[in-house]
Amino acid sequence: MDPEEFRKRGKEMVDYVADYLEKIEKRQVFPDVEPGYLRTLIPDCAPQDPESFEDVFKDIEKIIMPGVTHWHSPYFFAYFPSASSFPALLADMLCGGIGCVGFSWVCSLGYIYIAMRLFSLFFFSSQAASPACTELETVMLDWLGKMLSLPEEFLAGKDGQGGGVIQGSASEATLVALLAARTKTIRRVQSEKPELTEADIMGRLVAYASDQAHSSVERAALIGGVKMKNVPSDDTFAVCGSALKKVLDEDKASGLIPFFFCATLGTTPCCSFDKLLELGPICNNENIWMHIDAAYAGSAFICPEFRHLLNGVEFTDSFNFNPHKWLLVNFDCSAMWVKKRSDLIGAFKLEPLYLQHHHQESGLVTDYRHWQIPLGRRFRSLKLWFVLRMYGVTGLQEHIRKHVRLSHQFEHLVLQDERFEICAEVVLGLVCFRLKGSNELNKALLKSINEAKKIHLVPCHLREKFVLRFAICSRTVESTHVKFAWQHISQLATELLKTWEQNGHQQ
Ligand SMILES: *Cc1c(COP(=O)(O)O)cnc(C)c1O
Repeated sequence: MDPEEFRKRGKEMVDYVADYLEKIEKRQVFPDVEPGYLRTLIPDCAPQDPESFEDVFKDIEKIIMPGVTHWHSPYFFAYFPSASSFPALLADMLCGGIGCVGFSWVCSLGYIYIAMRLFSLFFFSSQAASPACTELETVMLDWLGKMLSLPEEFLAGKDGQGGGVIQGSASEATLVALLAARTKTIRRVQSEKPELTEADIMGRLVAYASDQAHSSVERAALIGGVKMKNVPSDDTFAVCGSALKKVLDEDKASGLIPFFFCATLGTTPCCSFDKLLELGPICNNENIWMHIDAAYAGSAFICPEFRHLLNGVEFTDSFNFNPHKWLLVNFDCSAMWVKKRSDLIGAFKLEPLYLQHHHQESGLVTDYRHWQIPLGRRFRSLKLWFVLRMYGVTGLQEHIRKHVRLSHQFEHLVLQDERFEICAEVVLGLVCFRLKGSNELNKALLKSINEAKKIHLVPCHLREKFVLRFAICSRTVESTHVKFAWQHISQLATELLKTWEQNGHQQ
């Protein structure tokens, strides 16, 4: 494909995407296909000879779309939102355009760097490879940090010791924080008790998170090779200080070394909030790294009326949320801040001592390779820049507020129907609800909802209860869609209850 054809095809593709998103409502939100459907539709091997763009293009509707779950349909109420906006899509196009060059530059120099890392000159020339990519990211994370009113220490500024980085996902951010905490703790314990080997210490380290925390936290501990324990949440599904204190005391008494606590703001099952103001001082006193996973809820903190949910962030070492969930920045864009960048760099730099006397990292000088697991990185801050400028803080606040309003609308509809109950406080854009009755009944209700494929929901467990989650997701969802969804659910419930009665089921 030459530039002329790219120009033409690019415009066609933009039209296709615009049509797709404009008319997404007309598509069935959940696909009809069976596992393995795609293999039967495409050849076993890559084509020997080139095919035309037309050949590929016509297969999008034939092969791909039948198997797509339409996450941006206003009838999609499953999981949490996956952000999408036109400014972000355009920025990602530009990222792709610049990215190929940027990526190979960084990557090949990276390998040369590893081979020749004794020659500092080489290293510095690789730093200058993508100044815009690095600098825009630092500044965007400062913008975003200010929008959330993060404490000054988390900002890079001109000479800050903290700062932000874009990770690919909240899972990666948690892992990076846990690994940094692990290294920091091992070094500290070794300096206090030189008789202990690294392996001795590793064997005693324990990480903690709520029993409501995302599975990625447990995975981070698994990958990090450390024990992980769940702290029991209270009857509002939040971890409070006394619960953490209790497990810590028990574990310390048995010779273990608590080193990491991941607090969740906006848990995945029901959007509950761990009590930062109680947990923070405990972690600080016990030398425990505190990380906040606010993957979904974090976006809401740009609204002054929700900012109090973040109170206590001042106690933490690292904080993360996903603009790619709720802030209209397409996947992938997970924003992470640390108070002390030296903690990350100390954990991930190949030769920390060797470079120390060349330059100390601070606000203006950032080498993001030492802040993350992969070497290469895309120009993801472009998406943030486009979205923050073209929506403005007000536009983004409106988006959040609309979603919260719609979730309360759904909550009210549920509350008016005596057959149903609300299972957790509705704070942001998620409503947890169920039919009063058995788990079997609720499983049957969810099955009938998802088999009808007019809307899409996923369930969760809250303690022993099987619960349906109604998450406001689409950028274009309106009150009419929410009303439709409720009427549909309520009608399916009526039919279900009738057949259960006829069949003599226990409700
Ligand atoms: C969605 C979610 C995650 C996972 O986010 P990724 O960016 O996909 O890794 C982690 N934690 C919480 C609380 C979530 O809701």
